[in-house]
Amino acid sequence: MTPASSLDFRFLKTRVTIEHVLAARGLLATMRRHGDKLLGPCPIHHGDSTTAFVVSTAKNLWYCFTGCRGGGDVVDLVRCLDSCDYRSTALYLASLAGSAPATTHPRSDLKPFHPFTARLKLDPHVSFLADKGIRPATARAFDAGLHRGSGFLRGCVAVRLHDHQGQPVGYAGRVLDPDCARLGKWRLPARLPKRTLLFNLHRIRQPFHHGLVLVEDPWSVMRLAQIDVPAVALLGTALSTQQAELLAPAARVLIMLDADAAGRLAARDLRSRLAPARIAVAELPDGHDPDQLSDHDLRACCHLFLPTLAHHAA
Ligand SMILES: [Zn+2]
Repeated sequence: MTPASSLDFRFLKTRVTIEHVLAARGLLATMRRHGDKLLGPCPIHHGDSTTAFVVSTAKNLWYCFTGCRGGGDVVDLVRCLDSCDYRSTALYLASLAGSAPATTHPRSDLKPFHPFTARLKLDPHVSFLADKGIRPATARAFDAGLHRGSGFLRGCVAVRLHDHQGQPVGYAGRVLDPDCARLGKWRLPARLPKRTLLFNLHRIRQPFHHGLVLVEDPWSVMRLAQIDVPAVALLGTALSTQQAELLAPAARVLIMLDADAAGRLAARDLRSRLAPARIAVAELPDGHDPDQLSDHDLRACCHLFLPTLAHHAA
């Protein structure tokens, strides 16, 4: 790659702005302008917050303050949007550099969501899951494991998603490549109606009326399932109105988010948004995610709020 080559990143960064990339994908319509900044929902992790994703048009840099908690330049953005390597990113940016971006992919964000209903072949024997204490049999039961095939989930630990009636809608993928995970840990299907989903809700109809645990990610749901505690995951920390409605029939909800600053802040928000009489927030050791606790400690956290679920069956 010579500096004069059209695939040179220094050259491409001077020719293609982040605004170009957003316009080319019809994403500019979801952003609002504030001075030299663009604000909108994050197109990488597809969060709910309309102020999560901030672009400095003056500096040509972006940052996501919620799900990704990271940012970068136009190259980082394309790599994270497309989960692609540097060469494909360079080719894509080069194509934008020589074209009128706003007309190349008009309003792609307005296409309807199409559920992906086929089952992927996933490998549950992966250290990412083992390190979290998730057994291969559990991963298999949840349709989770390493995706060795192609597509946007390539190289991700994927897990199958369903709507609340149990219809499969596709897969979420946890990025393992630390280079890209720094900028966005999750890959979700395009236009997934994330705000209407609660991971695992369709599997826990019965104990639902006695109580459940609300966690951030599918891994915590799987760990809790291994000790027979019903849980659902937000796929993040934000709770939509639709998700709050789905939780309304639950007799009790124990909020168990990651015990970091963002998780604690979010837990306080969730507690205020759900009916307070039946809500509690789990006390996890500082800096710990639920999937980092032993079964014993996990059970102890739940016991304070869900003392023998069978007790409440009567
Ligand atoms: Zn994000």
